[in-house]
Amino acid sequence: MTIDTKRFHAALLEERERVENAIANLRDDHPGRMDEEVEEIGGTVDNHLAETATATLDRQIDYTLEENSTQVLLEIDAALGRIEDGSYGTCTHCGAEIAQGRLDAKPWASLCIDCKRDTERP
Ligand SMILES: [Zn+2]
Repeated sequence: MTIDTKRFHAALLEERERVENAIANLRDDHPGRMDEEVEEIGGTVDNHLAETATATLDRQIDYTLEENSTQVLLEIDAALGRIEDGSYGTCTHCGAEIAQGRLDAKPWASLCIDCKRDTERP
């Protein structure tokens, strides 16, 4: 195993912070830049149906984002755990090495590409 776990450890911590910030922003009632859009929802519902629909859609996307972010957070923590116990970089399903390029793109990947494809098959 020639994986540079130090590098991935740093990448995971960095990504973890980024995801945590993203979740914090989503949960914040006044998330700065997105403020204006949100403020309009309550007051002018009548003649802004289209805008309201868009705002609702945005909210749903936010919920999905939060769910995904929470999931990624769990996967990042699991990956950090695998660095600790020395199993980082091997597929948790079949034990094969996970391709370095895949880890570069997604440091918290726990499955090799073949197993990942299997889980996505209907
Ligand atoms: Zn596998």
